[in-house]
Order: sequence, then structure tokens, then C-alpha cells
Amino acid sequence: MGEPRTTASTCCYCGVGCGVLIDSEDGRITGVRGDPDHPANAGRLCSKGLSLAQTAQSDAGRALRPAWRPRREAPLAPVDWDTALDHVAARLADVVRRHGPDAVAFYVSGQLLTEDYYVFNKLAKGLVGTNNIDTNSRLCMSSAVTGYKLSLGADGPPTCYEDLDHADTVLIAGSNMAYAHPVLYRRLEAAREARPGTRWIVVDPRRTDTAAMADLHLPIQPGTDVALFNGMLHHLIWEGWLDPDHIAGSTEGFDAVKRMVRDTPPSVAAALCGIRERDLCQAAEWFARSPATLSLYCMGLNQSSHGTDKNLALINLHLATGQIGRAGAGPFSLTGQPNAMGGREVGGMATMLAAHRDIASQTDRAEVAAFWGVDAVSDRPGLAAVDMFQALETGKVKAIWIACTNPAHSLPDLAAVRRALRRAELVVVQEAYADTDTVAYADVLLPASSWGEKDGTVTNSERRISRVRPAVAPPGQARADWRIVAEVGRRMQALLRPGTPDLFPYRTPREIFDEHRALTRGRDLDIGGLDYELLETRGPQQWPFPAGQATGLARRYADGRYATASGRARFQPVPYRPVAVATSARHPFHLTTGRLRDQWHGMSRTGRIAQAFSHAPDPTLDMHPADASRRGLADGDLVRVASRDGAMVLPLRLTEDVPPGSLFAAMHWNAQFLNSGGINEVCNAAVDDKSFQPELKHSAVRVEKA
Ligand code: SF4
Repeated sequence: MGEPRTTASTCCYCGVGCGVLIDSEDGRITGVRGDPDHPANAGRLCSKGLSLAQTAQSDAGRALRPAWRPRREAPLAPVDWDTALDHVAARLADVVRRHGPDAVAFYVSGQLLTEDYYVFNKLAKGLVGTNNIDTNSRLCMSSAVTGYKLSLGADGPPTCYEDLDHADTVLIAGSNMAYAHPVLYRRLEAAREARPGTRWIVVDPRRTDTAAMADLHLPIQPGTDVALFNGMLHHLIWEGWLDPDHIAGSTEGFDAVKRMVRDTPPSVAAALCGIRERDLCQAAEWFARSPATLSLYCMGLNQSSHGTDKNLALINLHLATGQIGRAGAGPFSLTGQPNAMGGREVGGMATMLAAHRDIASQTDRAEVAAFWGVDAVSDRPGLAAVDMFQALETGKVKAIWIACTNPAHSLPDLAAVRRALRRAELVVVQEAYADTDTVAYADVLLPASSWGEKDGTVTNSERRISRVRPAVAPPGQARADWRIVAEVGRRMQALLRPGTPDLFPYRTPREIFDEHRALTRGRDLDIGGLDYELLETRGPQQWPFPAGQATGLARRYADGRYATASGRARFQPVPYRPVAVATSARHPFHLTTGRLRDQWHGMSRTGRIAQAFSHAPDPTLDMHPADASRRGLADGDLVRVASRDGAMVLPLRLTEDVPPGSLFAAMHWNAQFLNSGGINEVCNAAVDDKSFQPELKHSAVRVEKA
């Protein structure tokens, strides 16, 4: 019998990045508690974090040994690890030789640890020679990233969690924090209790649990956020509620934005948004005239065909009013996934290189190539998530390696994704669970370790790097993600570049982290001074944390100097544009999608425990009673919701929380619970032209009795 022990780690769900204490005994996890010493949560956990132990206590559904199919129609059959790894390496190398490096693609996950991500990125860009590595973080934060880079000059929020305690006005836009980031939401509630008079403005088409607690709820029409923010800026300019010193001393481009918003007075903006003009003006006044205004935003801004513009229009407000770089003030994107930030740090996406370097920069490519000891890093742009699967369908990409994510459920236009997976010459799926929608298309299944078994680091929404530690061994033959990738990488290197020094010599995640942090030296996210020892002795730390510093940086740009070449933040003129697919007589409803309180993503983990269903036991399509009455529909009716791209059947739930003309469906429910792949059957594949993030937050649909 093993001794009971406690292991400090990090929750694997949202980007709040709460510290957890995992109790284990005899190789089994027996309980999970909040870590009182973790700065992100000080011991608090939400319902998802509290249920981690139950989700880890059974191996049901886990992928326990490698498997492959001799032919597409055959079932997956067990195979030993060496045969599986040899097979994957040989097939991928063969595709590279026959069709070139860009015929291979990697689709990975914001739930991988930074070390896993690093090795995947090195395999794609360093060994194979393609930038075709993208991640489900493309569906999560890429519009926020593009917004920060265009306006402030660098990726990553300027703010920290402590700002929630100091803000006098909080603008929550496109985020149901009460469900999606519950521990931060509780902190915000506590801050309002401690400082009565703190105001919340919530921008959301629905009356969510977060919106219900707002001092001012702006239920805008889906997709009209840019009109709202431009209208607010117009009002601020008219009233003179600007910060001329900040505009003159720390920014550039204000005149162009001032000219652009001339066409969007509050009356016009309010009409576009479907809200009262006086509410828009009230929001503008609170935003500008409060001592400290903090914006918290998430998928409602990012998952849009003009998500970058939404981010930029909001940041314009902060720059114009000087609400940035001070305690309680600034734009603060809330990361959806636990490690979307860490993936960007290592450059694990199709549009970036390691340590926030640019693929388009010859200098940056040369630095990375020299560091890795490879001839060159490709200057050909990689394929972002939606384009990657479209290229798989057209045959431009022949082989795909998917890790720790379920694109057959989470990408838009699921019928097209299924066609792409069927068309591929080779689909490798690296997964902890054997029964996800995507595993059904795998030619090879590589069983991966999961939360409670993994070792490495993650970075949360406030740029804080925390350790993820293993409490138990993985079940069956499952292995760490980084190790699987390194083992295939070594085999591929022997085939493609025999005799060259080993690119994947790692024995531990610590060695990978050390290589990663060496690549960050001199960059905006420099963590040269941060290693596993320091994380061990002093706990989670924020970046940047260069060598020689005693701590990381809590708040960026406090000196009014930004990360652009000129040191000035850049105002960006972003006129309002409508959603990609407008409603019509045939498809008259706006459909938005979002999260439930107790479920996570595609439910591969939370969907296995009964208590996660007590809050929302069944999938539903939410509709306003007035719309239902006009169509002769009743609560509980089975209805068919259809767009031009796809359709599915759901039970109707009548609620006044969605406005007339709009519908809502949760994104979690998958083929195990439905007669389809989920609500993304209906969502269109339109993407933002700057961030390539798809418009999962809006589809034009019709509804009829099934
Ligand atoms: Fe986990 Fe997020 Fe809940 Fe914290 S708030 S316990 S990180 S799901």
C-alpha cells in the first residue's frame, strides 16, 4: 500500500489557471482541493475544478494502448508502441518526400502543456520544414492576440488579476464570466462587496447570469460590438472626456480614429446595436470618468469574422481615456483554455514563431533556425485551423496529426471537417480518450497521458506560469505528449535528415522548458530568469521575468511606453462591419453559442460524471417565448435548427434570457448525446481576415418543428 500524498498542480480547464492540491493514494487520485497558496485562486475552485477528482477516478473511455487500422473501414486494432511510432514516422516522412513538407499538418491544443507544445512546434517547423501547425487556440484567443499586436505592439494582456480588486468600472464584453471563468467572477463579486459603488457594464445579447448582476446591461444585437465601442468613443470626443496627455505622449493615429467615428454618433450606434442611446452614453461616461476602468472580454469578441476589429475598437477606448497601465485599468482578454498563452509563447501556431517572433521576419526565422541548428525555418505562411481542414479536403494537405483536441466536434461546418478527415491519406490522433468524435477517423491512435498524470507548465490569463505536476502514473500504456512527439521526431529525423545532431534529445520536461526559456532571452516575454527550481521554491510567476530580476512584471506599459517600434500605442480605425452571414427571410434568427456552467469543451472529461449534468441535464435550443408563440412552438418541442451549412435537432427551451430574434445553444453536446456532431453542424466557416478565428458566435438560422 502506498502512502497518501498531496501534489500541487494546476486545474486543466479554463485560463484562470487555479492551483489545486491533488490527494492520492495507491496510485489513485482520491481528492482535489483548491491550493490556498496559488495567487490565481487563493484556494477557491469552481464546480469544474471541484469535480476533477471524480473525472480522474475511472479509466472509462481512456485510450490505454496504441491502435491502428490496416484499412479505413476496419476497426482500430491494438499495436505495440514501437510499431505505432515507426509507422507514423515512416508514413509522414513518405508524404514529405512525395509531396513536400506543406503536405503535412499538425492540429494541436491549448490544453497541451508548454513543453508538449514546444516539441510539436520544433517537429513541424524545425524538422519537417512546414509552418502548418495550428491549434484549437485559433478558435479561442487569436483575435485578442492580433488586437494586442496591432495596437500595443505585442501579444499578451497588460493587466493582472489584482486589477479586478482595484477597478471602479468593469466593462465585461462577450463573456459570461460566471460560467466560463467562475473563480475570477467570484473575485469580482468580492471586490464589489468590498468597494460599494463599483459599477459593472455587461455587453451581451443574452441576459446571462453575469449580465443579470450588471449595473448596466447592454443587450446588443450579435456582432455589433464595434458599432457600440465606436459610438462610445464618438460620445467621449464630443464631451471632451479624453486623456489628452496620454493621447499626445503615448499614442499615434488618434486623428484617423477621430475622423472615422464621426459617422457613428451615439444615436446611429445605438440603433445598429438595438439598445437605448442613453444607455450607450451612460456606459461611455462611466468608462471614461471612473478613476480606473477595466475591460474583461472573451469569446463574444474573439469568435467573430471581425473579432480583431472588436478588440481594437475596445482598446481604442482605453487608449483615448488613458485607462491603461494603472492599477485597475486596462484591456484584459480572458483566456479560454488553460494554456492558450503558453502555446503562443513557444510559437506553436501557423502564424508565429517561438517567443513571439514573426514568420515574415527574415531575422526572426534565422534566429530560430540557428538556435535549433537547422538550415532554415520556412517563410511560407502556415495554414490556420479552418484553412488547414479545407486544405485537407481539397487534397493540398495529405496527412494530419491531431493532438489533445476534437475538431470533428469543435470546428465550424462539421460536415466539411468530416469530409476532410475521410479524404486524408493519414490521420494520426494523439488522445487521452478513445471515444471522441475525431478518434472515429484515426488511422493511428496514440494514447496520451491526461491531467493528474502530466508534468510541465502552463501560462494563465495574467501571464502567470504555473507548474503542472503528476500525482499518479498514466493508465495502461499511455505516455506523456512531449515524449510521443519526441519519439516520432527522432525516427523522422533518421529518415529525413540522417546523421544530423538529435533535435529531440529530451529526457524530462525540465530540459524542454530550459530550451524554451533560452529562446525567449531579449524578447518581450523574456523568462531567462525563471526555471523549475524557482517555480518550486517561490511558486507561480508572471512573465516577463528576465535573468537578474527578482520577480515577474505584474502590469505592463505602466511607464506609458508600448511595445511598438516607436514606443507609442497605435490607434486603429475600425469601421463597423456586419456579421459574415446576415439573417434573411429564409434564415431569420441569429444563433449564438456558448458554455454551460459545469461542462468543459466537448465533454470528453466532464461528460463522464453525473454531477456535471445537474445544472443543465439536456441539450436545448433556447428561444424567446414570443418567437415560439408566433411559430406555434412549445417548450420541449423537438425542433430542427438549420443554416445554409447544416442542420440538427434539439429540444426547445423557452426563456426570456435570449432576446426575440435570437437563439442560443451550448457548444458542449457531442455525438454521444445527439443525433449529430453538435451545434457546430450549423455554424459557418467564415473567419476573421486578420486573426483567422472563425465566427462561432453567429449563424443565421431557421427553426421548424422536427
Ligand atoms: Fe478550473 Fe477555471 Fe474553475 Fe479555476 S475557474 S477551478 S481554472 S475551471
